[in-house]
Amino acid sequence: MTAKILDGAALAQELRAGFKLRAEALAAQGTRPGLAVVLVGEDPASQVYVRNKVNACAQAGFHSEKIVLPVETTAADLLERIAALNADPAIHGILVQLPLPKHIDADAVLEAIAPEKDVDGFHAENLGALTQGKPRFIPCTPHGVMKLLEKGDVSLKGQEAVVIGRSNIVGKPMALLLLAAGATVTVCHSQTRDLAFHTRRADILVAAVGRPRFVTGDMIKPGAVVIDVGINRVPEDQPDAGKLCGDVDFASAREVASAITPVPGGVGPMTIAMLLANTLLAAERVAAARTGA
Ligand code: NDP
Repeated sequence: MTAKILDGAALAQELRAGFKLRAEALAAQGTRPGLAVVLVGEDPASQVYVRNKVNACAQAGFHSEKIVLPVETTAADLLERIAALNADPAIHGILVQLPLPKHIDADAVLEAIAPEKDVDGFHAENLGALTQGKPRFIPCTPHGVMKLLEKGDVSLKGQEAVVIGRSNIVGKPMALLLLAAGATVTVCHSQTRDLAFHTRRADILVAAVGRPRFVTGDMIKPGAVVIDVGINRVPEDQPDAGKLCGDVDFASAREVASAITPVPGGVGPMTIAMLLANTLLAAERVAAARTGA
């Protein structure tokens, strides 16, 4: 069996065209969706992510601001910037690119973002609302995965879903969304005993580990749907060293799975599309509140 490709790049493009139309309609009523992206330091991968996010905003007709701060920025300075963005009516969404330098407490920074502008959905209030099944903003990466599953007509009710990874950014919200959609969910992590035992039971397997080509074909149930969240560089000892790869060994996995996301071109573009979706939603809420709609 060769798996069907779940094409995140194509779906993201389709969605972004729709967001552009919604943004134009909103702008015509006097509200242009605005996103502020804050980057502290010069991490090369973060610089690429921030650039892609800002470009996506421009293409969709959003207002965007890129705020780049030196690595030695203090927590107090960063909090002051966030307070200013919280108060700025041109900004509907605020994203602080992670990871932050070690001397800054990332949790405190995320908590300082006004929950109604927290388009990443990482504020405790928003994660709490998600847990209760009443999300204000769904975190972008797991939201993108759900859209890909929907587009691929993957049924979730009663299915065994296994998520590898339990981060607040990907693994945990992913598990909550799959649970809400009716799947039976297992969350695996670095202390899981016999990982392959769990992964081989999965009808839907989501890998969010951060280890290149970690999940191999022999760990996958024949016919499973495999979602690869990972973005890694191929290690030096492999022939295609330095290229982008996922957490799944695509070559062996696609021979076993029924559907799979590629890296690049799978979950990554969907994350950006869902960031635009959340920013648009935030702006639409502000506009609706103003008109009393
Ligand atoms: P984290 O490092 O925060 O979390 C990784 C998780 O994997 C942890 O829960 C960890 O377990 C678990 N893990 C690590 N090693 C093993 C192992 N040997 N066996 C089982 N579980 C293991 O990463 P993120 O969740 O932030 O990101 C995961 C991946 O997704 C990365 O490659 C990242 O680059 C990518 N990513 C991609 C995005 C996209 O848009 N496509 C967006 C965000 C992230 P423990 O908790 O026990 O340490």
